[in-house]
Order: sequence, then structure tokens, then C-alpha cells
Amino acid sequence: MASPEFPENPYLLLTPGPLSSSQTVKSAMLQDWCTWDRDYNSMVQEIRAELVSLATSNLDCTAVLMQGSGTFCVESVIGTALGKEDKFLVLANGAYGSRMAEIARYLDIALTVIDFGETGAIDPRQIEAALQDDRAITTVAVVHCETTTGRLNDIVAIGKLVKSFDKTYIVDAMSSFGGMAMSMEEMQADYLVSSANKCIQGVPGFGFVIARREAIESTAGQARSLSLDMYEQWRTMERDQGKWRFTSATHVVHAFSQALKELREEGGIAARAARYSENQRLLVDGMRKLGFECLLPDDCQSPIITAFISPQHPGYRFEEFYLALKDRGFVIYPGNVTEVDTFRIGNIGEVYADDIHRLLKVVAELQ
Ligand SMILES: *Cc1c(COP(=O)(O)O)cnc(C)c1O
Repeated sequence: MASPEFPENPYLLLTPGPLSSSQTVKSAMLQDWCTWDRDYNSMVQEIRAELVSLATSNLDCTAVLMQGSGTFCVESVIGTALGKEDKFLVLANGAYGSRMAEIARYLDIALTVIDFGETGAIDPRQIEAALQDDRAITTVAVVHCETTTGRLNDIVAIGKLVKSFDKTYIVDAMSSFGGMAMSMEEMQADYLVSSANKCIQGVPGFGFVIARREAIESTAGQARSLSLDMYEQWRTMERDQGKWRFTSATHVVHAFSQALKELREEGGIAARAARYSENQRLLVDGMRKLGFECLLPDDCQSPIITAFISPQHPGYRFEEFYLALKDRGFVIYPGNVTEVDTFRIGNIGEVYADDIHRLLKVVAELQ
């Protein structure tokens, strides 16, 4: 294959998706694919099978891909998995948990939200009380890595509790799947949602759901949207062997297939998780040496993205800090909590220890 010339990226994305992808993932998009051709559809089938194998080794699970950003995919799960008589309990401690509640409000789904606060931990006693008090609740959802702060929620313990009440369990593992080991059996999830442009290191354009076959099979006719009907999308992919119902992001899907190959070559999720953890450890150690403080305590901090408390000196402006870093080759994220002024640095994607060392040098120079 001819090796195309790429312009050098002007900066490294230290954001939780879209993130810096490899040249080989980007170059996988330089081909046109026919959406109903067998070559393309069999690639989709391979992707679906591989996603399942990354999430479980012995459960009967299946995968469905859905056009759009991650939120479209979350909306397709919520809008399809909950029937007319069902009631939704959302456990929220950040913007992405709150977004699931917002989706349910748009869709007119009966809803209870337990809000633990932007920086609060999820308290299992409150979940238990809610499930005991309100027998109408049928379905519980939580975010794994709450990208708002970088907090990891204990999806295994929450799953155990949810299943002790025999409820359906939805996990938004958008920003962590592929970058941290997790298994459908351990967390007892019925649906796990993630997207192409996070830890699998593809480019944006579609999301995916890994579901227990039994769960998704029971959702026929429930969807509140035509294009976001997760069941029909799944059924079409099953019946027509990798066919999507509507035009799919063919180039993005091909890039994703390449990204999965690169995940295998790296050594799978275990190796990628080790790289991300090392990135995050170097980042936090280095930033602390420069006088920065993390928003969260270490024991609930994800190896994906870290929120730092903004410098307190009166001259500090995020916008200036951001632009100075961008000039020097790094793009970071603004903070997203109201209680404290923060900024966030992601360490997922094509990001290595050397990049973190370079970043820390630049931050030191800017002080
Ligand atoms: C990125 C992300 C989403 C989806 O966001 P989009 O902007 O729609 O891709 C959902 N949940 C979490 C936790 C995320 O990090």
C-alpha cells in the first residue's frame, strides 16, 4: 500500500476523546467502502465479535454499533431498554450521570435520580433504600469513569446490589472501556456502552453497546425513536450479518477495525491499562512536584483523566494557560465542576511516558 503523507499534528490531545489516534488508524480511512458489500459487513461482524470478547469470556453477550457520538448510543439504550411501564433510577455524580437523567426526561420515562454531588462518592445505602422504597424501579444506570472529575465508580459493588433486587443494569463505560479491565459477569451489567473514539483509540463517528443477548432480545418494539432503535439496529446486524439500517460511518468503522488490531498488538486491555496507569501516575507525581493539587483523593481516581485544582494566584487564567500549552504542543481540558475551579488532563490515546515528561517540562517553564 502506498504510504500517504500526513501533516504533522500541531498538538497532542490530552482530552478524553476525541483523542490522539495513530497515523495508521487515520490512514485506514483512505478507502471507500460500500455499506452493503460483504467485505464491509464481515468487518462489522468481526468488530462486534471482538468487542464481545473484550468484555466477557463466558456470558452470552452480543454487540450492536450505533451511528453518532457516545451520547446517541446512551440515548438508544435508555430509549429502547426501558418499556412503557418501566421506571429508571439514575445514580449521578457528574455531568454524564446527569445527562442520562436528562435523556430520560426528554423521553418521558419515569425517573428517580440520586445525585451524590459533583465530587461525591456513590453511597450504596442510598441505592438500597431507593430500591426498597420504590418497587416500581426496574432499571438502574451508572457511569463507570465519571469524566467530569475522573472519578471511578464501583460498578462491581453497585451491580451486585442492583442484581440482588433483580433489576436491569446499564453501565456507561464510555471513557474507560478498552483502557481498563472489566467484565460483564463481574459487574453483572445487562448493557455496557462505549464509543469508537475513547480507549479503543479510534476516531469519532459511532458508539457501541455490549449487551446480554437475553436482555436485548426482550426489547423489541420499545424504542421511542426510529433511528435510535437499539433493538432494530441489533436485529438487522444479526439477520443481515453486519448490515446497518442506515448509512454507517464506513471510514470510521474501518479506522476502528485498525484500532482494535493495534489494541491486540499492544498486548490487549491489560497492556493498555498498564500504559494509561503509568501515564497517569507520572502526570500526578510530576504535577504535585510543581505544586498542583488533585481534586479527588487517589483511591477513587481513574487512570483516564485527572482534575487539578487551578492555581490560586490572581494572575492565573485558564484560557491563557490553555493557549500557552497549545502553543507548545498540548491541548488540555477545562474543568467541569461548579464547586471548585479546576482544569483536566487526560492521558488516554496515543500518549506515552515521554509525552507526559515533555508536558511536565512545559508546565514547569510556564510557572
Ligand atoms: C465521552 C463520554 C460520553 C459521550 O459523550 P459524547 O460527547 O456524546 O461522545 C458519555 N459518557 C461519558 C462518561 C463520557 O466520557
